[in-house]
Amino acid sequence: MNAPASTTNSLVMNPSAALRSQPLRDVLSATSVCLRKDVLNRGFVEVIDIMPRLVDPSRIGVEAAIVDAARVSYGGGTSRISTDRDLLRYLLRHYHTTPFEKVALTFRVRAPLFVARQWMRHRTGSFNEESARYSEVVDEAYAPAPAEIKAQASGPLANRQVGDTLLGAEVCEAASAAVSNLWAVAHKIYLSLLAQGVAREMARTVIPVSMYTTFVWKVDLWNLFHFLNLRMAPHAQEQIRVYGQAIHALLQGIAPEACSAFDDYIQSSMRLTRLETEAIRAACASGAPLTTAEISSKNRRERSEWHAKRVYLFGPAEAQADQQEKEYKE
Ligand SMILES: Cc1cc2nc3c(=O)[nH]c(=O)nc-3n(C[C@H](O)[C@H](O)[C@H](O)COP(=O)(O)OP(=O)(O)OC[C@H]3O[C@@H](n4cnc5c(N)ncnc54)[C@H](O)[C@@H]3O)c2cc1C
Repeated sequence: MNAPASTTNSLVMNPSAALRSQPLRDVLSATSVCLRKDVLNRGFVEVIDIMPRLVDPSRIGVEAAIVDAARVSYGGGTSRISTDRDLLRYLLRHYHTTPFEKVALTFRVRAPLFVARQWMRHRTGSFNEESARYSEVVDEAYAPAPAEIKAQASGPLANRQVGDTLLGAEVCEAASAAVSNLWAVAHKIYLSLLAQGVAREMARTVIPVSMYTTFVWKVDLWNLFHFLNLRMAPHAQEQIRVYGQAIHALLQGIAPEACSAFDDYIQSSMRLTRLETEAIRAACASGAPLTTAEISSKNRRERSEWHAKRVYLFGPAEAQADQQEKEYKE
């Protein structure tokens, strides 16, 4: 005779569930976790789902999925790393990335079209976006604060994508007003086209890229780190950078150990080329100040990139000399 359904179900229960002393905790309902941040004038980013969502309260939250996956794939190779935290940090330090794919997050994002366009270049996430063919475009647009208006970078070594210096207050006010005025005019024309019976899919073509759009984005933790690393970088556009910073802040409440490992080993780390490593070695060997270590490249841009790293690592040449002189006098 077949066993009753309830008995069959109990036979397939996870045995570790019986050993667990406390019930699983729902990460999304934990009141201490912030799940939403407002961004720009009308945008936001909101966590709407996490995998795994139910976690063992005696473990390190959702991050247990990362170390458990590593222990499966590396088996005895992980036994020398005792704590979950140390293992997690080891994994990221050595770019063992697949365990980080075992955590996935789903966000609802409201962002201007020009930000969403950059965002959706990240192919490793999954997107669904509201459609202006199905719903009417609402009167809500990105309006830059005057402080967001920057001058176009110039000069042979400037990153020409980035606006980085401030303009006069008058220009900033006028530019900010111009963006808002254009929106008002465009949205009025859009509504008049709709009123004349023009299809939404055609009427929307008058709408500028300052329009807000809403999309749902599912991404695993490793590819989220990749996104944050690129989009929180100083050379990324400020209006997507602020979304990256908001997500980073939310992540600190959800996966704090992974977030801290990301800060230490990816975001605040630096890649040195062979020439750069050789320049440091040569300066150390000769006793020359590291602030003047030079790479053997004729490429102006490559030298300039090294100089930026050199200042970050060792400080500007003059400051170093001043410090040395001060120490000598003392
Ligand atoms: C500051 C900045 C400026 C940019 N400027 C421009 C620009 O001027 N023009 C422009 O076109 N783009 C530009 N981009 C977009 C950029 O080239 C990337 O498309 C974007 O950053 C997504 O990066 P990704 O491909 O690494 O990410 P994802 O698409 O999320 O992919 C993650 C990783 O998965 C792998 N991968 C994913 N799909 C494939 C595939 N089909 N084949 C092989 N490997 C794959 C790659 O290793 C990739 O790095 C810019 C990006 C930044 C951050």
